[in-house]
Amino acid sequence: MTTAEKLARVAETDTSFARRGANWVGKCLICNGPIAFDAVTGEGATLEHIRARTRGGTEEPENLAVVHDRCNGEKGRRWDPKRRRPDTEYDAFITRLLERRRQRWRAAAPSAPPAIRGRDSD
Ligand SMILES: [Zn+2]
Repeated sequence: MTTAEKLARVAETDTSFARRGANWVGKCLICNGPIAFDAVTGEGATLEHIRARTRGGTEEPENLAVVHDRCNGEKGRRWDPKRRRPDTEYDAFITRLLERRRQRWRAAAPSAPPAIRGRDSD
C-alpha cells in the first residue's frame, strides 16, 4: 500500500474528513487545524504513526493519522529519542492522540462516489 493509499484509508475512517473534488478535506489529528490532501497523490499532508514504529506502533489504520508536515516535525522534535522524555509522559501524549483518533473513528467511507457499472452488470 502506498503512502497516498494509507492517507486515503485514514481519511475514510476519520469523521472529520470529507471528499471535496480531488481532495480529502478534514482536520489534522495533532493540532485540529484544517488540512487537505490530494486523494490520489497524497500531496498536502503527512502520514503520521501515532505510536512511533520504533516504540512498537503498527501500520493499522487505528495507529495512523493525517497531519500537517509541521505538526509531524514538531512531534518528532518534541519526542526526539535523544531528548527523550520519561515513557510515562510519552504514553500519556500518545494516549491522548489515540483517543482523539477513536473519537473520530468511522467504519466506512461516507458518500463514496457511485460505482461505475459495467455494461453487463444489469
Ligand atoms: Zn496540524
